[in-house]
Amino acid sequence: MIKIGLLAVTAITGLVSLAVNVQADSSRWEAGTSYKLTILHTNDNHGRFWSNRHGEYGMAARKTLIDSIRAEIKAEGGQLLLLSGGDINTGVPESDLQDAEPDFKGMGFIGYDAMAIGNHEFDNELSVIRKQQSWVDFPFLAANIYDTSTKKRLFKPYQVFQKGALRIAVVGLTTEDTKKLGNPEFMGNISFTQPVDEVKNLLPELNKKADIIIAATHMGHYQDAKFGINAPGDVTLARSVKGIDIIIGGHSQDPVCADAQGAMITKYKAGMACMPDVQNGTLIMQAHEWGKYVGRADLEFKDGELSLVSYQLIPVNLKKKVKNAEGKKVRVLVADAIAEDATLKAFLTPYQEQGQEKLQQKIGVVDSKLEGDRAVVRFEPTNMGHLIALAQMEKVGADLAVMNSGGIRDSIAQGDITYKDVLKVQPFANVVGFVTLNGKELLDYLTAVAAKPIDSGAFAQFAGVSLMIEQGVLKTATIKGQDIDPAKNYRLAINSYIASGGDKYPPMNKHSGYVNSGFVDADVLKEYIEKNSPLSAGEYDKGNVVRK
Ligand SMILES: [Zn+2]
Repeated sequence: MIKIGLLAVTAITGLVSLAVNVQADSSRWEAGTSYKLTILHTNDNHGRFWSNRHGEYGMAARKTLIDSIRAEIKAEGGQLLLLSGGDINTGVPESDLQDAEPDFKGMGFIGYDAMAIGNHEFDNELSVIRKQQSWVDFPFLAANIYDTSTKKRLFKPYQVFQKGALRIAVVGLTTEDTKKLGNPEFMGNISFTQPVDEVKNLLPELNKKADIIIAATHMGHYQDAKFGINAPGDVTLARSVKGIDIIIGGHSQDPVCADAQGAMITKYKAGMACMPDVQNGTLIMQAHEWGKYVGRADLEFKDGELSLVSYQLIPVNLKKKVKNAEGKKVRVLVADAIAEDATLKAFLTPYQEQGQEKLQQKIGVVDSKLEGDRAVVRFEPTNMGHLIALAQMEKVGADLAVMNSGGIRDSIAQGDITYKDVLKVQPFANVVGFVTLNGKELLDYLTAVAAKPIDSGAFAQFAGVSLMIEQGVLKTATIKGQDIDPAKNYRLAINSYIASGGDKYPPMNKHSGYVNSGFVDADVLKEYIEKNSPLSAGEYDKGNVVRK
């Protein structure tokens, strides 16, 4: 086992009691010699192969950044490993419509060494994942995903990399929550075991084969192991297993950053200093999401001991808003501009164009207007409001759903429907979530949102629940013909905007029963339309809500 000491930042650890490894026969490192190793990492790409409209992130700029670090490390005689914490799929229509082909192939271009499998890889069936694997020459790692019929692993559990004199094992682990977050249609024959157990079983084998052990995980970073309703994450893993040197994480989509005293920074802003979380001698790192940052850990290995020399989250063309001389808010780069790699950009461009073309294709048809006009949807229950709420409710297996009408930006006219039409209705890319509430909590919530006034974005639309509301006061609420039972639990689907207290809705994202499904609202609506087309607009009328 190798312990971690921090050379440059010893202030951070009170735990530096360095046990030096006995050198195994098969090791190639020499006593007294120090070896440089740099780990680069990203996670939760979620379809962001292209930069956003402000020119932030994007794979072409990421490649330029990583290429320049490679050149620097090579010149110093160091070694480099580039890892991803998974969730390459889902989040941008242009990528989703092409099974994330530009994203995976882009990773191949940039030269990733390995990735963890994320829950969103299972938004597609296994055959699509197999196709995605064939596009690249790096492994998709998961030690805890099994085929239930053969009892065999579906993916390679780990890979050992020989980097100069160093042998580095990278083991992949995926959140057990994938079973509940992934598309149930694709989960039939797949099981997820506990990551902690798998690592414990593999450690003796890994210790024989490698000098350094890294877990590439997609389990989430929950501060102080407070994972709530979620499956345990990286902190629990590090605390439960002694001997993992580094965890490269994903899933919670956080910049995992501690300050110089080792306290976690909860409101991290691009450009601030960042140190990994240190738990039980394991360094835990995560680079927020979407390729906004490349995480960079410069390490030194000497006499069986691995030390962190420096760490940073390097922003990829991220911008902040500042006031200019005229007092107008403008976006400026937080760090030096990174040029886009011309070759990768040229490779990705046809995918971006094709993706945009695909948005114009017909996904369904409706027999009359779905009402989303501002002057209507903010004043009364409409078929569009009901439809959106219903789509979200069904997607996450909820009993009911609430939708703020301010999040509904357009109508859909009678006739053919395209993905582009759907994106006009829901342009904000809010994520669908759900929260498990007892009947009393649910009634309190419904009472609060039923009171939202007309002519405001907060005005609520519903699905799955029959309501009688008089002058904003909730009089009756039933689900499947039954009164809401204060002692029973209910699952409520809501979007991330209202979950976080947007439109002054009761905040739910800190509730212990809240789960972020990761599904983008427009995508959920599109899928519902595809599945249920031809749509009869009348079927969605009012949604069993009576307002007086
Ligand atoms: Zn995830």
